Amino acid sequence: MSIISVALPIPKRRLFDYLADDKIPKIGARVSVSFGPRKLIGVVWEINQTSDWDENKLKKIQDIIDDEPIFDAIQHKLCTWLAQYYKHPIGDVVQSAMPVALRKGESSEAKPTVYFTLTDSGESLDLGTLSRAPKQQVILENLRKTKLTKSKVISDFSASAIKALSQKEYITEVSVVSAHDTSWLDNIVLQDKPVANVEQAIAISSIEAKQAQYACFLLDGITGSGKTEVYLQAIEPVLKQGKQVLILVPEIGLTPQTVHRFKYRFGIDVGILHSGLTNNERLQVWQKSKNGELGIIIGTRSAIFTPMKNPGLLIVDEEHDASYKQQDGLRYHARDLAVVRAHAENIPLVLGTATPALETLNNAVSGKYHHLILQQRAGNASVASQQVFDIRQQPLQFGIAQGMLDRIQQHLEQGSQVMLFINRRGYAPALMCHQCGYVEQCTRCNKPFTLHSQLNKLQCHHCGCARSIPQQCNQCHSNELNAMGVGTEQLELGLTKYFPNYSNIRIDSDSARGKSKLDKMLNSINNNEHQILIGTQILSKGHHFPNVTLVLILDIDGALFSADFRAAENLAQLITQLSGRAGRAEKPGEMWLQTHDPGHPLLQDLINNGYAHFAKYALLERKTAQLPPYTFQALFKAQALYAKDAHAFLQNIADLFSQYQDVWCLGPIPALMEKRQGQYRMQLLLQANQRSALQYALGQEVNKIETLFLANKVRWSLDIDPQDFS
Ligand code: ADP
Ligand code: ZN
Ligand code: ZN
Repeated sequence: MSIISVALPIPKRRLFDYLADDKIPKIGARVSVSFGPRKLIGVVWEINQTSDWDENKLKKIQDIIDDEPIFDAIQHKLCTWLAQYYKHPIGDVVQSAMPVALRKGESSEAKPTVYFTLTDSGESLDLGTLSRAPKQQVILENLRKTKLTKSKVISDFSASAIKALSQKEYITEVSVVSAHDTSWLDNIVLQDKPVANVEQAIAISSIEAKQAQYACFLLDGITGSGKTEVYLQAIEPVLKQGKQVLILVPEIGLTPQTVHRFKYRFGIDVGILHSGLTNNERLQVWQKSKNGELGIIIGTRSAIFTPMKNPGLLIVDEEHDASYKQQDGLRYHARDLAVVRAHAENIPLVLGTATPALETLNNAVSGKYHHLILQQRAGNASVASQQVFDIRQQPLQFGIAQGMLDRIQQHLEQGSQVMLFINRRGYAPALMCHQCGYVEQCTRCNKPFTLHSQLNKLQCHHCGCARSIPQQCNQCHSNELNAMGVGTEQLELGLTKYFPNYSNIRIDSDSARGKSKLDKMLNSINNNEHQILIGTQILSKGHHFPNVTLVLILDIDGALFSADFRAAENLAQLITQLSGRAGRAEKPGEMWLQTHDPGHPLLQDLINNGYAHFAKYALLERKTAQLPPYTFQALFKAQALYAKDAHAFLQNIADLFSQYQDVWCLGPIPALMEKRQGQYRMQLLLQANQRSALQYALGQEVNKIETLFLANKVRWSLDIDPQDFS
């Protein structure tokens, strides 16, 4: 008898067995089954001859949704790997790998396209008879050349003219399920391809030499060194062989500018996958890629799951970017999955960045990855100079020292743009009583409220809750409440007053909510509508601002003293990336860092010797301190209404692992954010010198955790290779 083992969207680390009706579904196809009182859609994952469960009690599958598998052998392998490596329920992994429309049971086949065509009478009509209806005439003229999609006709022509022609039965709608259109291969043209410089040429030919086999390259090139150009020229021979290329970019880096560069170079359509798409749009790109109808697919993190008919190359741009790691649910790292995928597909992978993650750098240094280095800026652009500005004992206006204000003025007077970075949105990070020092706090998170002047509210940045701004101190009833510290809003107001003749723009997650809004803002900057750019993290990510000649980084001192062992690495990446925004065109740029600790060794090393030097020593430090990438970690987090429950639960887990000599348990200890949304948060860190030792222990124990007594009282998660310890 055939037992159908199905991956169902149920948070259990196993498959669920069913019996086939008369027809046996294929592995990788969707089926619907009854699960308790519910009907669920799952994917057939295995077909076995026997079951671990009582076969007489197994239910039959209700429906087979797909005749052909929607998960090919590679997808199957990737999901199985993900479930095993991240110790995550397979059903949930499979869900994550599917477009939402397919999770809901939509057909995986392409929907028919509706066209307008001419009827026989429309074909034979003398167009002269429509001389009094020129709009109708135009439509007929166009349709005589070729059939047009309904959506194109509707967007290009007059609605009343279309209606009139339909009523007169000159035109009609037809639905066509198109055969897979793989004509992109014949349409490739090359536009504006520059001659590669020596460093680029070496990189391009190294990548080309590894076609049709697994190889991983770290393309380690300073900002503006022409990494994107290397991608483009490495892609070219792949496309010409009819093979597809998948490019991952950080969410925020997926701008029309980026997409345009790829589209324009090869003159072909590019499939785009980002969080702003509708379910249907996402499904279409997925289908086209699966059918080989797209040569290039660009997408954010989850695009790594996109099936390709004929894959040739994977690229992960800005590989160090934190957005590649999913921080909830299936906590996978898309870059690491890309390595697994390139292996499985037997194709090369390029990881590009100006600031490699220490994990990646270590793999390059140890010879696991090929290290390609670009040290020169392409074209004539020069590298920005970097300096620290000592603000000890200096008066600050809205967070900026006078010396820096003067410098901003100079750059503005030369007709350049200036960019200011501050890592805090809102007006001020706290509201403090001048009489007694009381700070308004969110009681659910035990953290100060951020003051937002535009919302006219206090808001907690940890749980999102908001309240009105109090007039009086909660403690001593004084009405002298002062904003403490500076956020983007305050900076914007201050700069508007100080430089009334220059326009400024603030880019943070408050002002740039939504993708199209951010795209508009970036465009207005490149059109020189604004001279002063103020922003958070968003500004550091891969945007080209050719006219910016001064980058000023305010207030990074917090990061210099963070408890997170990755803080130094992340700060060095941020500073280097921001400095790369300046002077990209022919104008030389400079970057300044305001700090109370100008002699800090990290800052000094970075500024005098650059990121590569910093990273080399940071790796040595990690080695001595026995931290990743030289050791391997897994983080259990638990939260509960009472701290003692979270603690006891994690202690139970720690007890499970105490028998493994080569795995150390650190904790349970309170998380960096001890309380959030009224829940107490604790963590337990497992660490091992060998990845395999940690994997083995987790594999043995993780199923037992589900059955622990407290498992229903706490919310818990397991994060393999954790990046975020908050
Ligand atoms: P990165 O991706 O490393 O930041 P880009 O590929 O965007 O760098 O290149 C920076 C600029 O230099 C772009 O304007 C690009 O068109 C230009 N460029 C890159 N390579 C060359 C080259 N070989 N010759 C001329 N211009 C180049
Ligand atoms: Zn007070
Ligand atoms: Zn809160």
